Amino acid sequence: MMKRISAYSRPESIGEAFACLDGPGAVLIGGGTKLNGRTSSEPMSVVDLQVAGLDGIERLDAGTLRIGATTTLQQLVDSEDVPAVVREAARRELPSTLRAQSTLGGAVVSADRESELLAALLVHDAVVFVARPGGTDKMGLEALLAHLPLASHDIVTAVAIDTAGTASVARVARTQADKPIVVAAVRVGADGRRRLALAGVASAPVLVEEEDELDPPGDFRGSGEYRRAMAAVLISRAIEGVS
Ligand SMILES: Cc1cc2nc3c(=O)[nH]c(=O)nc-3n(C[C@H](O)[C@H](O)[C@H](O)COP(=O)(O)OP(=O)(O)OC[C@H]3O[C@@H](n4cnc5c(N)ncnc54)[C@H](O)[C@@H]3O)c2cc1C
Repeated sequence: MMKRISAYSRPESIGEAFACLDGPGAVLIGGGTKLNGRTSSEPMSVVDLQVAGLDGIERLDAGTLRIGATTTLQQLVDSEDVPAVVREAARRELPSTLRAQSTLGGAVVSADRESELLAALLVHDAVVFVARPGGTDKMGLEALLAHLPLASHDIVTAVAIDTAGTASVARVARTQADKPIVVAAVRVGADGRRRLALAGVASAPVLVEEEDELDPPGDFRGSGEYRRAMAAVLISRAIEGVS
């Protein structure tokens, strides 16, 4: 099936973006790395967020970083303000050519179930800001992932993370450079509480407790049983990393 672009707009503000989203077949685009691969016979009216003023990484206080939705994965990798496990997770998400294009907002909304980046953001207590015509809401990343897809006029504008504490990630993949099959991320925050997240064991990355029973869906890259066994091993390794 062919993709048909019926219109293209590049709003310069969120208000303009809302107006563009009123048209038929309107679809938001961040970096387009995922959307460009989509095939559909329906005409698409592309609303490109690249100049909507949603980029940039800003420290709100000593422990909180606000990352704009159109910040590219490469900008995450390059920022010394971003915690090391988030930078490394962003580096592993895509090859460099695609990292320069793909955005944090696109990664959040795509909700890849094996995303190391989303697992790393979850343990950093990520809060997602979503603009709607009535105002802006914020919600925990886990709640947002559970409520996808977004409504047609919802725009992710930023993600805030808690950067304090110590974090560690462990993963298993077919090769060093390949997409992970299962990922465990752990962070002990400034409050001394341990957060644990897994990717590759549910329909999207999730926050878990060490003793949780898992029932991962399997596929050609790993059966449910394999993923469950790997999750236990990787949780231990990640916890060792913060001990
Ligand atoms: C070769 C290849 C390999 C890939 N490998 C991986 C991988 O290993 N792991 C992984 O997680 N992903 C992978 N992806 C998917 C994709 O690259 C990532 O999900 C990427 O981060 C998407 O970002 P983007 O800005 O390009 O999204 P886009 O393609 O622009 O958008 C993706 C979706 O998000 C919506 N969207 C974008 N921005 C916003 C916003 N601000 N508010 C609301 N909705 C928005 C779009 O409407 C669309 O539905 C891969 C893609 C390719 C092409």
